[in-house]
Amino acid sequence: MDQVYCCLTCGFVTSDEIIDCMDPSWRKKCPECKGKMLATGRDRESYWNCYDTPEERSDAIVNFEEIVCKEFVYGNPQFNQKKYEKREQKDQERIARNIAGLSPLDNHPKCPTCGSENLSRISGIGTISIFGNFGITNGDAGKTFKCNNCGYRW
Ligand SMILES: [Zn+2]
Ligand SMILES: [Zn+2]
Repeated sequence: MDQVYCCLTCGFVTSDEIIDCMDPSWRKKCPECKGKMLATGRDRESYWNCYDTPEERSDAIVNFEEIVCKEFVYGNPQFNQKKYEKREQKDQERIARNIAGLSPLDNHPKCPTCGSENLSRISGIGTISIFGNFGITNGDAGKTFKCNNCGYRW
């Protein structure tokens, strides 16, 4: 079972599958704030498998951490708003860095197929911020540019 864990102090949410490669001490201690981790006893997929429509499921996937926090974290006596906000901010900064890393600096790139400079940058924003934690990517992952002339992506 891919059990979900959350930090009662800062609201950090993770699960067995995601964090398997890390030092196992995270199960007791939050890697973000050293707070106490709670094993929820729930399978990660149980958070979206209870919905019938694809829309509701993808909503639940996107809001997964929020749902877990509502259930276990907010309002418990160990919850610390400051630490929560600090962790959220760190998350945002990490996402911003990921995006920056995927968008190489402008040096007048040209389409390798037709040589056109009429290019669009494929922003990975939606994919990364929403699915980054789940290892789900779309077909454009790793591609940065799209040629507006011939449609080639690379
Ligand atoms: Zn924490
Ligand atoms: Zn082209």
